[in-house]
Amino acid sequence: MMRLGLPGREKMGDDRVKNEALQIIGMFQVLPRLVVFDLDYTLWPFYCECRSKREMPSLYPQAKGILNAFKDKGIDMAIASRSPTPDIANTFIDKLNIKPMFVAKVKSLWIGGSMARWNICSEGERTRCGSWHELVIENEIFSSWTHKTEHFQKIHLRTGVPFNSMLFFDDEDRNIQTVSKMGVTSILVDNGVNLGALREGLTKFTQNVKTTEKNKERWAKFTQNPNSSKSKSED
Ligand SMILES: [Mg+2]
Repeated sequence: MMRLGLPGREKMGDDRVKNEALQIIGMFQVLPRLVVFDLDYTLWPFYCECRSKREMPSLYPQAKGILNAFKDKGIDMAIASRSPTPDIANTFIDKLNIKPMFVAKVKSLWIGGSMARWNICSEGERTRCGSWHELVIENEIFSSWTHKTEHFQKIHLRTGVPFNSMLFFDDEDRNIQTVSKMGVTSILVDNGVNLGALREGLTKFTQNVKTTEKNKERWAKFTQNPNSSKSKSED
């Protein structure tokens, strides 16, 4: 019988992707404590401002399996999105049943009928939101006017996870550039989050951890004997 499509390009089921993702994760000894995802063109193949809330969205074919694998491994996940239509993004996250997967818990509260809103984080601390466009919902942080670096500051404050223990996936190079400068291992995705991006992310994360450790060792040696490198350069 003739097969349509190229071999290996058929959609793998979520469970098969999850199992492959678990195998990949199992190959690495050092793992991130928190994995952060952008939404548009990272977890799903569209800009949500171009869609209607009434639609039924779908994720990139391998995204759900990968989210499930991280969940199974007990690795926390969060979202950092600058979508200008966070209400649509939130509705889609609900429809896709992926909301419980994400940490960085922040709640929003509407004050009366006005546009003023307060954010209440999980510790009960309250901060006034500057703009109607900044929507902080229970599990995800959205904002159209802040930079991704601010999202990461918030995620760090709320989770306590250091930047160098985070892994981030996004489809925009400018986000990758700015966030990686904070010390977060950041991976540019070309065709959404998939098994290739997962392998690349964990490989780069391991390399970054090793580099940090080497630098720490060098620094420790230098502080114990600062003259050793000085005398060399003076030779
Ligand atoms: Mg995007």
